[in-house]
Amino acid sequence: MPSIFSKIIDGEIPAHVVAETTEFLAFLDINPLTMGHVLVIPKQEIDYIFDMDEESYFGLTLFAKIVAAGIRKAFPCIKVGMAVIGLEVPHAHIHLIPLNTMDDINF
Ligand code: 5GP
Repeated sequence: MPSIFSKIIDGEIPAHVVAETTEFLAFLDINPLTMGHVLVIPKQEIDYIFDMDEESYFGLTLFAKIVAAGIRKAFPCIKVGMAVIGLEVPHAHIHLIPLNTMDDINF
């Protein structure tokens, strides 16, 4: 069954897209841990990031690196944290979270 992220990819539900390629999409998390919290996803429908084939996985992580550089400029922070959780939405994704203190990651 398509997840909520598939609906975002198809434009059926709105999202604040910050970057896009033919294969990948980055958009703001609807419930951000910090301002500028972005989710980076493959357009391919796949539940678990570590089940992705290597080429797609490397492509996604490279895309995340580029998006993280943009986040750092737009939302000044010490570092952009990267997390894989995936318990809520069954579509592979990486969290990119601008961080300034350890308190930011009390999740
Ligand atoms: P996880 O699956 O990694 O535990 O968390 C999924 C993340 O997706 C959460 O941070 C949640 O706020 C975000 N999320 C869930 N539904 C939507 C949605 O419809 N739009 C957006 N932009 N983010 C969502």
